[in-house]
Amino acid sequence: MPKDRLQIILAKPRGFCAGVVRAIEIVEQALKVHGAPVYVRHEIVHNKHVVEDLRRKGARFVQDVDEIPEGAVTVFSAHGVSRKVENDAETRQLDVIDATCPLVTKVHNQAKRFVRNGYAIVLIGHANHPEIEGTLGQIPGTAYLVEDVEDACTLSPDDPEKLAYVTQTTLSVDDTKSIIEKLKARFPKIQGPSTDDICYATQNRQTAVKALSSQVDVILVLGASFSSNSNRLREIGEISGIPSYLLDDASALNSAWLKGAKSVGITAGASAPEELVVELIKRLDELYDLTVSTIDGVDETLIFNLPRKLTKGSSQPAPQA
Ligand code: SF4
Repeated sequence: MPKDRLQIILAKPRGFCAGVVRAIEIVEQALKVHGAPVYVRHEIVHNKHVVEDLRRKGARFVQDVDEIPEGAVTVFSAHGVSRKVENDAETRQLDVIDATCPLVTKVHNQAKRFVRNGYAIVLIGHANHPEIEGTLGQIPGTAYLVEDVEDACTLSPDDPEKLAYVTQTTLSVDDTKSIIEKLKARFPKIQGPSTDDICYATQNRQTAVKALSSQVDVILVLGASFSSNSNRLREIGEISGIPSYLLDDASALNSAWLKGAKSVGITAGASAPEELVVELIKRLDELYDLTVSTIDGVDETLIFNLPRKLTKGSSQPAPQA
């Protein structure tokens, strides 16, 4: 029996961002320079395929620094860590290589600058996300966590005249805009960063999903269920009126999702490797007569340098930021 036709449209950009590429390279380079094992606090990025691959190469993933032998080579994940974690690592004399994304560090630095200038911080983000735990733990003063517009409506700061906001890097651009508008309406003197904290990769991937949603019947987002930016991509598809599904990999594909669909959009969160997209297309190719194209979108060229302690004395040139 001939297979049904299905048009696949790939989002551009999709998948790995510069911060994730750098974090993975840091672990791989640390393994080359120091040999196994290299300890990694928390999943280096939110993707089990990436974590498993690095585990096979000799990385050992731990939840906290007290699980790491004294003096061992230790990588902090791309999400960033609190001052307490930095201090605990110092006490254990760990040889730390920090894979915190430079765009997360930028948010930490903005918050510290505001505190130095006498402001309390409104941190917009999701409680329990490791980036928020890290950022909260880097703020050397008062911080209020705001997760949604409702929180912005009920926030009751000690001094409404001296407030400044910063945000998690992987939020929905639209939701964050509504939260900031509400904060500005309630606290007209609130300060904010000069440029958006939501990172370029999150913004570009969200814009691409919006563009995709006008052309397809279903959207599939490759990414982990606990990956913030991947969840936002699925939500944006859904808000645009297109049934949208988040899946870890091709094995999680449910053919019922595609019933009656003539076209499917595929994207991937910032921590999902391109192999997952390739495997999903292969799986769909077994089921349908496929045509595959890619939507027009932004070319991303940003590359972050590796930490100097990993490139010192190396014959490999350091990538340029
Ligand atoms: Fe950095 Fe953005 Fe990637 Fe997070 S999603 S690692 S902030 S570039």
